[in-house]
Amino acid sequence: MSAAYPLDGAVCEGVATADYDPFFAETPEAEADALAMCGLCLVRRACLAYAVETGQVFGIWGGKTQRELRRLIVRARGGRSRGRRVPPGHPNAHKTHCKRGHPFDAANTYYAANGERRCRACRRARLALARRVAGRANGGER
Ligand code: SF4
Ligand SMILES: [Zn+2]
Repeated sequence: MSAAYPLDGAVCEGVATADYDPFFAETPEAEADALAMCGLCLVRRACLAYAVETGQVFGIWGGKTQRELRRLIVRARGGRSRGRRVPPGHPNAHKTHCKRGHPFDAANTYYAANGERRCRACRRARLALARRVAGRANGGER
């Protein structure tokens, strides 16, 4: 059964900021944060079903790590992990570039928990900035 996004009652809604998006975690701590939120989320099952059905191979969905999710997707598709991404009718579905002009191609695209397409180049830039800021806060030592 298909879930409609965004899911009502999603614990993760509005959590991600430019500097902090545990659902696309780069550290074990961030991943644990995201999984803890999923653990409290009442729409976890629908979220996981949606992620598997639409082939969300990036990020944490429905209480599963990216690795677990990829395995589930591959199993559900008999070996193929690629599929439909942005739900049909979603306002992002027809955009070819992000706000800063990076292409929404396979290598540069990931998907937020609400089904929105996001740009990996912009995300890398945000993370690099966050690291520089954190590095300064730590007196330059990491
Ligand atoms: S990723 Fe899915 S299960 Fe986890 S908090 Fe968000 S909506 Fe809930
Ligand atoms: Zn971009």
